[in-house]
Amino acid sequence: MRILSLSIVGASLICAIGVICFVYFKHRSIASRIAAGQRSATAAISLQPDMATTGLDESTIESYQKLVLGESRRLPGPNGECCSICLSDYNSKETVRCIPECRHCFHAECIDKWLHMNSSCPLCRNSPSPSHVHVMSTNP
Ligand SMILES: [Zn+2]
Ligand SMILES: [Zn+2]
Repeated sequence: MRILSLSIVGASLICAIGVICFVYFKHRSIASRIAAGQRSATAAISLQPDMATTGLDESTIESYQKLVLGESRRLPGPNGECCSICLSDYNSKETVRCIPECRHCFHAECIDKWLHMNSSCPLCRNSPSPSHVHVMSTNP
């Protein structure tokens, strides 16, 4: 009987500790959220360069024009006969992808890998997303 009552006391004690912990952490998270809100004005500006260096998502990359080179190996863009990422010449039947803003072309597999890590053209550093340019110019 003593063991049973001891275990009940023990269980209720654990419950009480659990509730105290829950309330404490909930309060802490609200407090930190308020603090984060107060810092958001400065954080938004400091986050901008990080956003510019991160890559694009799959759907954005897939939205860029992709084409298979014919026998003429003629590119729709202004850059030359070799891919600026892997520095090898384009061959017929190779798939290339063009960045819409500057019309620079690269091997699809090269530019896909690049755009996963960077959001700008490797040749002219133009960002393919105009929203970044707009945000950067309004923040001095
Ligand atoms: Zn390449
Ligand atoms: Zn470019």
